[in-house]
Amino acid sequence: MNPEAQAAFERMVAKMPLEKRVQYLSQIEQIEKDFKEDGVQFDHTDSAHAIVISNEEATAVDRDTVGGVPYVCDKWPVPKCKICGQAMALNLQFDIRECFNVPFAEGSHFLAFSCFAHHGDLDNNLFKDNTKQLPLNFWDARKNHEFYLLPPGSSYRRGAEDTFFRPRLLYFYEFTEFVYTLRSLENALAAESPERKVGGTPSWWNTNYSELLCPCGGRMKLLFQIRDDWDFHIHGEREFVALPFLNTKHEITIVLGCERQCDPRAMIAVHDFMDEYDDEEV
Ligand SMILES: [Zn+2]
Ligand SMILES: [Zn+2]
Repeated sequence: MNPEAQAAFERMVAKMPLEKRVQYLSQIEQIEKDFKEDGVQFDHTDSAHAIVISNEEATAVDRDTVGGVPYVCDKWPVPKCKICGQAMALNLQFDIRECFNVPFAEGSHFLAFSCFAHHGDLDNNLFKDNTKQLPLNFWDARKNHEFYLLPPGSSYRRGAEDTFFRPRLLYFYEFTEFVYTLRSLENALAAESPERKVGGTPSWWNTNYSELLCPCGGRMKLLFQIRDDWDFHIHGEREFVALPFLNTKHEITIVLGCERQCDPRAMIAVHDFMDEYDDEEV
């Protein structure tokens, strides 16, 4: 465990009532044992928040939503697809809370958009896997999806209501994840976690992007991670039709942002998969 994670772990344990602490530590011991049997090395625990799409309809006052009314500003309105000129669909938006333990300012507002008509690929194609620093203004190369992480106070304007996805409220709940290293793969670090989470430890299975730097020199840090079963229901009559996040399907999608928030678009979505790891006999 690295010293930073160790200190955070000790702080978390110290805050627990005695009974919970004993239970928690014995649970970790058991996990450690189980992991050893599975051939992986337990590293540390981390706190993260699971993201849940509820069945509750989002209204115009809701800021944590799939679809619904986007909270933007005059400088950063709902983006248009650079291929077809159509307004992009609001995949999701949510406010950054302090409890998320992410290195972004509390009160910032995250929005993810994609073109409904154009399947896109994620941002891995903007750089080579061995790239340490992203090219200048890398976000300009995105054509059919867009991210904003608007700083506190700058997501004041209600944009036009999204017409693509059924508006749904998002919920978050805290959980503890168990982080482990994979002996068979160099640099691999993974967390046992729900399919979708904000914060915590990103799961790098095949390529580790944790050293990636923004053009400004800031580190690209995890905002959230999802698995490929995350589908959003389309508005109207076609209620059984669903689209994947950003209209493109990948086993694991990890969204990173510049820790300095140098630009609202300084965010990147990378994809990864577990197949190669699964093929290894560990
Ligand atoms: Zn388009
Ligand atoms: Zn930056």
